[in-house]
Amino acid sequence: MRAAVVGGGIIGTAVARELCRRFPAAQVTVLEKEDRLAAHQTGHNSGVVHAGIYYPPGSLKARLCRQGMDLLRELAGRHGLAYEECGKVVVARDERESARLDALFERAVANGVPGARIVSGAELREIEPHAVGVRAIHSPRTAIVDYRAVTRAIADEVRAAGGAVLLGQEVVAITPRGRTVALRTRAGLEESYDLVVTCAGLQADRVARLAGDPVGPRIVPFLGDYVLLPEDQRPLVRGLIYPVPDPRYPFLGVHLTRHVDGSVSLGPNAFLAPGRESYDGRPAWRDLREVVGFGGFWRFAAGNVPVAVREARTAASRRVFVAAARSYVPDVDPARVVPGPRGIRAQAMDARGGLVDDFVITGRDRVVHVRNAPSPGATSALAIAAYVVDETLARTDLSSAQPLPDEGTDPR
Ligand SMILES: Cc1cc2nc3c(=O)[nH]c(=O)nc-3n(C[C@H](O)[C@H](O)[C@H](O)COP(=O)(O)OP(=O)(O)OC[C@H]3O[C@@H](n4cnc5c(N)ncnc54)[C@H](O)[C@@H]3O)c2cc1C
Repeated sequence: MRAAVVGGGIIGTAVARELCRRFPAAQVTVLEKEDRLAAHQTGHNSGVVHAGIYYPPGSLKARLCRQGMDLLRELAGRHGLAYEECGKVVVARDERESARLDALFERAVANGVPGARIVSGAELREIEPHAVGVRAIHSPRTAIVDYRAVTRAIADEVRAAGGAVLLGQEVVAITPRGRTVALRTRAGLEESYDLVVTCAGLQADRVARLAGDPVGPRIVPFLGDYVLLPEDQRPLVRGLIYPVPDPRYPFLGVHLTRHVDGSVSLGPNAFLAPGRESYDGRPAWRDLREVVGFGGFWRFAAGNVPVAVREARTAASRRVFVAAARSYVPDVDPARVVPGPRGIRAQAMDARGGLVDDFVITGRDRVVHVRNAPSPGATSALAIAAYVVDETLARTDLSSAQPLPDEGTDPR
């Protein structure tokens, strides 16, 4: 069998690895448009291995996050990658948040989050001596990793199994032709495959449409800025300090995060990005035109004015941004934080303006698309990969797929 995976983020490489494992004789190729792996969301995130606290029980997120965490820990151990179970607290600052914390804890229990418990304000200060709050959920197994390093390790396993990882190959055409699927890249590569799986993150909707998938759900990009604590303030945060999430919003809120390199970040906030890959803040007109012309976005904006105003204030003023974090750790010195990295989230939105919460996998026959894989997508990647391959096998008989005779350029 010949299989291609479009996208060299953590999910694409994980799907390629899973295909190599299930079909040892298959020829598996990852096609990534950038000159490196993990160039987008996977390389611009918080680096947290989530333990499954937040997600509706029974959802794909709940299931695949818990499975993904275990698979990720095992993989990191095998490759000698840093994987630190530094633990996380979700902090309620007052009685109102405390009530929401109880509802969240019920989810954590239903999702089997290992070791999760409610702690008092006094216990919180034993775990995180500089944090303030009336109560918290403590999740001792929540961990941190470097997802770029994890992606490189997964890609190494693909290569070791005989697969290929091709960089600088932007897929621009996907054409199903009976029992095969033809791919063409901007660089001129043309190949046919028995199976194509697309894991294109911020471009997920566009790439799916190349193969004839419906327009929706659309990707709307949300920018998230981080700032970093100066070195002497890093001891203020031992692990991960999170707010109780706002139930009206899909993002987890500004958190204080320790990273495996020892740095500590605050962030990310969340506001509309000027482009799907505009890390420098410059507008990408095609992306902006699409958002502005999409009725779903305006319905979303109209329904979320207070949150949008709050996030816009954090975007406009670093002081406001840091104030959000200081309500959890008051000793953070707002005058001394420095700008940190930036991430852009691929958030799927439906035509009614609803943010699609769960992972979405679509497609038919021999083309499968991962269309929505927001956080905890990195944590869940290895489990998403197994799920995608299971679903594909349930729908498509690949057992009869024979390696094709060479048709022109062999990508390897
Ligand atoms: C700010 C932020 C914080 C986050 N924090 C966390 C966290 O702490 N923990 C967690 O579990 N998750 C977190 N996430 C979510 C996580 O990063 C994503 O779920 C995950 O990285 C998705 O992986 P992916 O492979 O689908 O996407 P990506 O990493 O975006 O990869 C998609 C790849 O497809 C490539 N591509 C696109 N179009 C084409 C084409 N036509 N041809 C070839 N290649 C193409 C892109 O170049 C890209 O490399 C966070 C995300 C963001 C943005």
